[in-house]
Amino acid sequence: MDSAEFRRHGYALVDWIAEYLAGSERYPVLPRVSPGDVRAALPATAPEHGEPFEAIVADFERIIVPALTHWNHPGFFAYFAISASAPGVLAEFLAAALNQQAMLWRTSPAATELEEVSLNWLRALLGLPDAFEGVIYDTASISSLHALAAAREAAVPGVREYGLAGRTGVGKVRVYCSEHAHSSIDKAVMLLGLGHRALRRIAADERFRMRTALLRDAVAEDRAAGMIPLAVVATLGTTSTTSVDPIAATADLCRREGVWLHVDAAYAGVAAMLPAYRHHFDGWEAADSIVVNPHKWLFTPFDLSAFYCRRMDVVRQAFALVPEYLETAEGARGVRNLMDTGIQLGRRFRSLKLWMVLRHFGADGLRAVLEEHIRLAQLFAGWIDADPDFERLAPTPFSVVCFRARPQGTALTPAELDTFNERLLDAVNASGDVFLSHTRIDGAFALRLAVGHLRTTDAHVARAWELLRSHTVRLAR
Ligand SMILES: *Cc1c(COP(=O)(O)O)cnc(C)c1O
Repeated sequence: MDSAEFRRHGYALVDWIAEYLAGSERYPVLPRVSPGDVRAALPATAPEHGEPFEAIVADFERIIVPALTHWNHPGFFAYFAISASAPGVLAEFLAAALNQQAMLWRTSPAATELEEVSLNWLRALLGLPDAFEGVIYDTASISSLHALAAAREAAVPGVREYGLAGRTGVGKVRVYCSEHAHSSIDKAVMLLGLGHRALRRIAADERFRMRTALLRDAVAEDRAAGMIPLAVVATLGTTSTTSVDPIAATADLCRREGVWLHVDAAYAGVAAMLPAYRHHFDGWEAADSIVVNPHKWLFTPFDLSAFYCRRMDVVRQAFALVPEYLETAEGARGVRNLMDTGIQLGRRFRSLKLWMVLRHFGADGLRAVLEEHIRLAQLFAGWIDADPDFERLAPTPFSVVCFRARPQGTALTPAELDTFNERLLDAVNASGDVFLSHTRIDGAFALRLAVGHLRTTDAHVARAWELLRSHTVRLAR
């Protein structure tokens, strides 16, 4: 593609994207397709001869777009709502063109140092001390994997050389988290060779927070049995209900026990920027490692996970391995090479989008959007609480509301109530105007409304509410 052609197609695509970002509401949030539709619309093999870009774009519009779930739609309330903001999109465009591979400082001084600078900016916005060094990974799952790998490195002598399998003299290890911790913690212990059974899930209280007393007992019991408590994962904003584990008490316990504390704040971490929400974060500065996902609630296009660690030297101890062909003079002089802080060698230029997003919005702009999202969620929670046909199933500390319909005048068994709410969710989502997801809370099927998209307004939340109410009336008939 020569540069004249690139300009032509590039301008056309910029127009397309501008219209999409402003008008994604034209599309149903959930696509009206069946499994296999996309596959069936495409040839089984790649073309033998190159095709004109117009034809490719035409097929993109005809086949791909109708099968998209529109995460960038203001009616997207499922899972955790996210936004690819315009400055973030433009940064990705540039990053693709620059094609930086920042394994070594030398292979991209700019990407290496911008990662440091943008993460330092974010760290200050979050109110974390300078002792936390940051690194960008793709997802929180990978951030937590690295946290637990570092904890393993710190707790098990020689694990890098000898591993865990078949070793004598090393007791069983244990990792602790609440029953509401994310499944990525399970996957990390499996992958690290600890075994799924090494993960001890601690029961939560009535507000879905890990019970510190039970954690303390579990650690003591395991120590008495000769096991090695490796790490505690506290969640700040759990995935189902966004509950907040008692961070300060957990940090105290970890300090006394000499156990690595990892705080999973993938979604809620950015709320540390809001003074009114700081109390949730008391004690997180004592953690060994923290993960916060700007791709979740900081308007940065997927993917970008910020990992902060007080002991990045341990991460390096676990992962640094420099083959001869990657030796550099700067490396020998102690310059930061990003390949040393993780599994992957190659790294893309993710910091560019974080830097552009932070500069575009400014701290006050980011705080204003976060506050607005929390306001919208609280508004919706108020409607739920005021309506006798609905009930809230969890506190709403941030921008996610967990609730269900419980139509008055119907005597539904718990199982029937679950089915009722499943049907309600399907009906609401079939509208194409909004998309909500579900979870289970204390065994009950719960609906979740997560506010997090930049262009979500009162009208979108009101539309969700209107659909929920009208379908509840219809289904209860
Ligand atoms: C979303 C989420 C994750 C997983 O995030 P990825 O970046 O998709 O891996 C982990 N923990 C919590 C608490 C989350 O909310």
